[in-house]
Amino acid sequence: MNKLHVKKGDTVIILSGDDRGNKGKVLEVSPKEGKVIVEGQNLVKKHVKPRKAGENGGIVEAEGALYATKVQVICPSCKKPTRVAHKRTADDNGKERSVRICKKCGEVL
Ligand SMILES: [Zn+2]
Repeated sequence: MNKLHVKKGDTVIILSGDDRGNKGKVLEVSPKEGKVIVEGQNLVKKHVKPRKAGENGGIVEAEGALYATKVQVICPSCKKPTRVAHKRTADDNGKERSVRICKKCGEVL
């Protein structure tokens, strides 16, 4: 399975497309497809059919998935968009794990 550099809850900046430069929170990640959904970004119109009598059908806007390569994580420590480095470290129980590090300031993301 491909691991993405972004995680649910990260704040990211969009690097290309109509929403370039916009920031938002990651709502969903799909490592299988290499895609992410960012709050309020890449809005696509969806047609909704009325389900009940008297209900209006219509068009709603919802976030469409973006390729994860089009977004960059904003580091919560230095507030800058950054590439992500990985570091192996041990947790409290001495178990090895991998953490994400900001390439700009070195803080754990
Ligand atoms: Zn940083």
